[in-house]
Amino acid sequence: MTTSVHQFLCLTDNYGVLVHDSKTGRTASIDAPEAAPILAALEEKGWTLTDLLITHHHADHIQGAPELKARFPELRIVGPAKETARIPDMDVLVVEGDAVWVGSLEARVIETPGHTIGHIAYYFGEEDLLFSGDTLFSLGCGRAFEAPPAVLWSSLVKLANLPGETQVYCGHEYTLANARFAMTIESSNPILRDRVEHVAALRAENRPTVPTTIAAELAANPFLRAEEPPVQAAVGMVGRDPADVFTEIRARKDNFRG
Ligand SMILES: [Zn+2]
Repeated sequence: MTTSVHQFLCLTDNYGVLVHDSKTGRTASIDAPEAAPILAALEEKGWTLTDLLITHHHADHIQGAPELKARFPELRIVGPAKETARIPDMDVLVVEGDAVWVGSLEARVIETPGHTIGHIAYYFGEEDLLFSGDTLFSLGCGRAFEAPPAVLWSSLVKLANLPGETQVYCGHEYTLANARFAMTIESSNPILRDRVEHVAALRAENRPTVPTTIAAELAANPFLRAEEPPVQAAVGMVGRDPADVFTEIRARKDNFRG
């Protein structure tokens, strides 16, 4: 095992994640929500930050970057070409299909517009790792801030088509609230009911519910299940285009006060 992944909280409910390649010693931070906990995690692990892989322009994903760059002047900042105007000081601009190397580890860039128009995810195929930012969450998905929900649906379908065993690291610990909402859509799903119990137990002990896997999300995340008859029935849209069903579920979540 030459790859280590270390996840920790930043701000209130953001996740910081470090990916370390022990072959070359290079270490990437996925996004930069807050410099202090990222620096503390690096210190704890004895790692030097070499790469910062940005998923999208929201402040709670980039605001730690200047302080990280000041501490590690050689830091290479990688991010979405389509958000160049909104993310300062990027060294490498990437688009769909580009390869991003963290030492000997190769990530493929997957464009996932919707939450923001230029949002990207990083997929390390050899390692079965996906960093989905604010596109796919455990039992949920990001809000469609900058594109119609149907666009976000297409992005989620791309992620859903990755191998089931793929470990999914997302930008926030939102799982408990997502679980409560998911139960309003598909409480008849025994896999979802088990997940909800498990998630509640983890959160009661203040433990992370992330990472999840693509297979686990396909089995329980209502936002990935817009094609499933029970989910379509729950929103009164049996046989409808999954993009429309997804749009309805996204709207209900936007208005959900659980
Ligand atoms: Zn965001």
